[in-house]
Amino acid sequence: MTDQNDNVKVIVRCRPLNETEKSSNCKVVVHVDETLGTITVSIPNGDKQIDIPKNFTFDTVFAPDCKQVDVYNVVARPIVECVLEGYNGTIFAYGQTGTGKTFTMEGVRSVPELRGIIPNSFAHVFGAIAKSEDDIKFLVRVSYLEIYNEEVRDLLGKDQTQQLEVKERPDVGVYVKDLSAFVVNNADDMDKIMTVGNKNRAVGATNMNAHSSRSHAIFTVTIECSDKGPDDKSRVRVGKLHLVDLAGSERQSKTGATGQRLKEATKINLSLSTLGNVISALVDGKSTHIPYRNSKLTRLLQDSLGGNSKTVMVANVGPADYNFDETISTLRYANRAK
Ligand code: ADP
Ligand code: MG
Repeated sequence: MTDQNDNVKVIVRCRPLNETEKSSNCKVVVHVDETLGTITVSIPNGDKQIDIPKNFTFDTVFAPDCKQVDVYNVVARPIVECVLEGYNGTIFAYGQTGTGKTFTMEGVRSVPELRGIIPNSFAHVFGAIAKSEDDIKFLVRVSYLEIYNEEVRDLLGKDQTQQLEVKERPDVGVYVKDLSAFVVNNADDMDKIMTVGNKNRAVGATNMNAHSSRSHAIFTVTIECSDKGPDDKSRVRVGKLHLVDLAGSERQSKTGATGQRLKEATKINLSLSTLGNVISALVDGKSTHIPYRNSKLTRLLQDSLGGNSKTVMVANVGPADYNFDETISTLRYANRAK
């Protein structure tokens, strides 16, 4: 681990068996040791010939009974602290559909102990601002977009059908042209905006579950902070926090998709594999070329991945035997990224 990049972390979270899995007597094949940071996957039926490391070690692993607040404190709190100081940070939830990406990022916003990283970050940001010294001024803005089929849509915009362009300028870096941004004054404002965005996300989706599993949703919080420097001149620092609920990582090709579905699947695979390549190149630290430009997702987040930015990938897995293949594939992805 000596020359590895400390700014990138990979964390694995395993969800509990759900009621359906319990009542159909599914076996738990994923075992998490939080103390050792290891995940062990046992082979469900002995006759299966596979060649995999069944033991994986990560920066942190979360067992099925972990608490949302513990996930927040480990995964997000240090990043949000950095963003308040003017650095950029990105948190990704990766994994097969149904493994808890949205539970990790958003959770159940109406139940305090079930709130995920996004609502907890709202409370954290405004708590920190309330405690800050009087002569420091903060301006907090939020944006919410989704990438579907390599097309960017503004989830807070007036026109949900409009495709936005990703642009680059030497002074501002990479940005999304015409993306709306709203100034927010408290956690409640942010929560309401998230609700609006989620509603817009469902607009035009004939099947919301299928839609959300094929698109990446990026909630961005921009925190501008101005104070007086030692020379009494005022200075401004800007930090950006991207909270990303990724498209489902399940291999769509297996489902026999054709036509439009197959096209979507190809694009999802491309963006997730590009993200894996970018992260592993950053972790490695020796690569001279980081392939940001190979997908909209990484292009858009280019200024917030690498350099001084902090990145955490939470890889979500299910515990049950029938998810074995996808679980191994997620752990391999995460293992390569770390
Ligand atoms: P994804 O977004 O990856 O498709 P979800 O977050 O929607 O998955 O999770 C699928 C279901 O499992 C939801 O009903 C969610 O509430 C539940 N769930 C996921 N993770 C957990 C967890 N750690 N504890 C309890 N329930 C969970
Ligand atoms: Mg989801």
